[in-house]
Formats: sequence, structure tokens, C-alpha cells
Amino acid sequence: MGGKGSGNWCRWNTGATLEQTRRIDIRYMTKQGLLKAGRGGSLSWSSRGEPDGSINYQCSEQRLHLNFRSRSHGGEWESVKQSIWFDRTPCHYGGERLWFLCPRCDRRVGVLSGHGTLFLCRHCYQLPYASQNEGRIERLISQKHKLGERIFEHYDYGEGWGKKKGMHWKTFNRLHARYEAMEQQWCGYMGQYLHLL
Ligand SMILES: [Zn+2]
Repeated sequence: MGGKGSGNWCRWNTGATLEQTRRIDIRYMTKQGLLKAGRGGSLSWSSRGEPDGSINYQCSEQRLHLNFRSRSHGGEWESVKQSIWFDRTPCHYGGERLWFLCPRCDRRVGVLSGHGTLFLCRHCYQLPYASQNEGRIERLISQKHKLGERIFEHYDYGEGWGKKKGMHWKTFNRLHARYEAMEQQWCGYMGQYLHLL
């Protein structure tokens, strides 16, 4: 029952593999048919082939309810319940696209990560990091956004999808590889930061 979250991993390019980084990818869950009202189950992650935690979820029309155990800064384990609101936007070709609303900043996002005690969007997690690393990470993020806006037909808050109309696939593939490399680098920075916690 439930879906495996494998394939949702950031691949840490610094070797700083984080055992406790969890991601919930709304597109992955939608594809797997997990986000239907009334549907529930568990999501599990693995790291280096080993099971690495799981959370229980329950889905309603408007919200995704999460139930899991969490520990911050090596403290006591506590039981956490979180409700995440959905948002929907119309698609160009009919139907609608489903989003999470970040529980902290209300941004519309496709991915939430459970780095600390709660699942939040990447923007909420990069704020404290940026202050410690001055311009480096911000430069990377702004370069990544610029490239994202250039190559994707749709680009919103760091999530892009669809090839830009009129762009050759060859060009798109090449630039997309660069975009992914930036994403990896960002993951690496995040990895270092999370190691400091
Ligand atoms: Zn947020």
C-alpha cells in the first residue's frame, strides 16, 4: 500500500548524503494516483538501498494530511501532524494542475521537503542558509531561475515544466542538463548546510 518515494531524491554531489531528507513530489504522487480524496497510505524513502523512514498520509479534496515522527537537532522524537492545502491551476490543454501550498509561506510549489520537523518548500529552507553563505547560493539560485525561465514554457517558483515553444530539442536538452547541474549544486549546498544543524 502506498507509494515509494524513491526517485524523488536530490543526489548529493558532495558526498554529504542526508539520511533524513525527505521530499514529497506532487507530480510523482499524482502520476501514481496517490492524491485522490479519501486515499491514504504511507510513503517511504530509501537511502543507499536501505529503508529510511516513512510517513502516513491521508488525502481529502482540499488537503493532504501527514502524520509522522520527527526529531530536530538530535532531540526527542515527537509525533507530528501536518495539513497541507492544495491549490489548482488550469492547464493549457484542459484539466488542472495540482500544487501544494507551503504551510509556512503559502507559495505554490510542486515539492515539499522534510528537513527539520516540518515539510516546507525549498524557499523556506534556503533562507537561513543564504545568510550564512552570502552571495554564493543566491547567485546560483538567480542563475538557475534565469535559465529556468529561458528554457521552460512554464516556470514558477523554481519549478519548470514543458519545453519552451520554438526552442530546438537539442538546445533544450543541452540547457536542461546545465539546469540540472545547478540543481545538483544547490542540493550540495543544502547538504552542507543541513550537516551543520
Ligand atoms: Zn515556504
